[in-house]
Amino acid sequence: MISHHERELLEILRDFKGYLCWQRKRGLLGLSVPRTEEPAARIVGKVAEEQPSFSSCSNDLEKIRMGIGDCRRCKLWENRKNIVFGSGNEKADLVFVGEGPGAEEDEAGEPFVGRAGQLLTRIIESVELKRDQVYICNIIKCRPPQNRNPQPDEIEACEPFLAAQLQVLAPKLICALGTFAARTLLKSSSPISALRGRFHNYRGIPLLATFHPAYLLRNPPEKKKVWEDMKMLKQEYDRLHTSSS
Ligand code: URA
Repeated sequence: MISHHERELLEILRDFKGYLCWQRKRGLLGLSVPRTEEPAARIVGKVAEEQPSFSSCSNDLEKIRMGIGDCRRCKLWENRKNIVFGSGNEKADLVFVGEGPGAEEDEAGEPFVGRAGQLLTRIIESVELKRDQVYICNIIKCRPPQNRNPQPDEIEACEPFLAAQLQVLAPKLICALGTFAARTLLKSSSPISALRGRFHNYRGIPLLATFHPAYLLRNPPEKKKVWEDMKMLKQEYDRLHTSSS
């Protein structure tokens, strides 16, 4: 014999099950989970195909963000407050790629808003660009505990989304900030000191690597080298910008 309360509970569960079935039919449940080895180019198409309701997303970047969902593909979900997808000008010719969110970024859900972010803004402005002219994102989208370095499995889980993001943004230039961004994008194990200061090729896009602003906060004399890198970046930016306008 079930009690009145148990009957009520069963009714609630039945209603909830009905609600979930209805949501699934509308395509609002069961987000596509791309396999990490899946080519990045297919992510946008796959999300759109499996989730017709996402065709209401106004652009492909939004679809990639939807594809990330409430991500649990690596252990970083346990401590994060917000997924930090990226922000800035979606039509930018120049994209900066950092390492991963820190405490302030995790809180705000925006990349580079803390001390390193303020320095990045000054670096961007030092070559007469504005922050709202560029797009900024990171290699990993969730904050590692105690701001430790990203681990290989975390980078691997996030990389298809970064690749898809860069494919959709299709910038003319990429600037990789620090060791993890440079090594991940260039599939290299060289130190940033060996990678910085020259252009590389990321899937047909010129990529310049330089020191991370957080490293500059700890080692101010290295700012001189970043200034040299930024002059080189701006020269190429002006050349590509002018040639296409
Ligand atoms: N450092 C990064 O690499 N990315 C951020 O978003 C903030 C600090």
